Amino acid sequence: MDYRKMDNIGVNTSLLGFGCMRFPTLENGKINEPEAEKMLDTAFAGGVNYYDTAYVYHDGASEAFTGRVLNKYDRKSYMVATKLPCWEVKTLADASRLFEEQLKRLDKDYIDFYLLHSLGKDSWKKMVDLGVIEFCEKLKAEGRIRHFGFSFHDDYPVFEEIVSFRTWDFCQIQLNYMDTEEQAGMKGYLLAEKLGIPVIVMEPVKGSSLANLPDDISRVFRNLRPDATAASWALRWVGSLPNAKVILSGMTTMEHVTDNLKTFTYFKPLNKEEKKAVEEVTKSLQSRVNNGCTSCRYCMPCPFGVDIPGNFHIWNGYGIYQNVGAVKWEWGTEMADASKAKNCTECGVCEDACPQRLHIRDDLKKVQSGLDALCAK
Ligand code: SF4
Ligand code: SF4
Repeated sequence: MDYRKMDNIGVNTSLLGFGCMRFPTLENGKINEPEAEKMLDTAFAGGVNYYDTAYVYHDGASEAFTGRVLNKYDRKSYMVATKLPCWEVKTLADASRLFEEQLKRLDKDYIDFYLLHSLGKDSWKKMVDLGVIEFCEKLKAEGRIRHFGFSFHDDYPVFEEIVSFRTWDFCQIQLNYMDTEEQAGMKGYLLAEKLGIPVIVMEPVKGSSLANLPDDISRVFRNLRPDATAASWALRWVGSLPNAKVILSGMTTMEHVTDNLKTFTYFKPLNKEEKKAVEEVTKSLQSRVNNGCTSCRYCMPCPFGVDIPGNFHIWNGYGIYQNVGAVKWEWGTEMADASKAKNCTECGVCEDACPQRLHIRDDLKKVQSGLDALCAK
């Protein structure tokens, strides 16, 4: 296993971190504990020392399960990370209650890495206003948490504000070879590096999208390394960044665990030729977008509530990855009905504002019919 040192806090983390949000499940939706335990044990035996859970994972069951399995091992031989669900925090007392509950669920005296979960513009402001930052600093001073950081999902300017606000022990961002411009992106990664803040990377395979590439595209990878999986390419791309100290993989099967251990044991960063192959794959994937929406949001707000870039994001995502499962989740479950393309009255206001000169009205019709048809399958 490859280990990386977080120089600022003097900790050696395994480059592969176990993301505890996608354990195998039974038909009733509960964690398949015997199977998941075997996976955790295999990862531990392979040298993984970083386990990342959260209050909400597996409907609240992940913390207790992960904590129980880790209790088999010497407390100093692993690090457990969990996250405060900021959206559930309305008062400082909520933060305190949730933290105590988390310690209890994990069955631990302290938490190694404690994160404010999924910070964005509004949740960040709320955490500052409620005094949650000082609360967590106090927990750290008392030794109840060892290191304090945050995970992030918003645009770069918000990341810059948060990451520069104080001396964080670490931060966690979404990064993969297709998302270098999304959210904090590469710009955020480089800023954290400049500030001396270690980066923990989530979504290195973009859900599972970069693990299941269309056949004609993954040929580029196969030609160079016939036995390597598409997922291993995505993980090696992230691992080639020196300030990426932990790469989280939400593993669901034992095959995921063994393939990841193969990638991170005697880890090899991408060489020049391999970097070129990733660039080629990136370009091919990007060329499959349905339209050229850049998510600039100049067209927003739509007076009729349509989330124009949000609709195009899902539509373009499908064009690129052909991942029906992702569409079913994003379109069928996540997106509010009131934000969908069908609410467009064709007033045309948005098209005048679009610097890409997109035919927004026509495209929105295609979004609604195309994605509805996929979800009906
Ligand atoms: S054309 Fe449709 S999407 Fe555009 S502003 Fe009007 S209602 Fe909204
Ligand atoms: S203005 Fe055009 S490119 Fe920008 S978000 Fe709206 S549709 Fe997309």
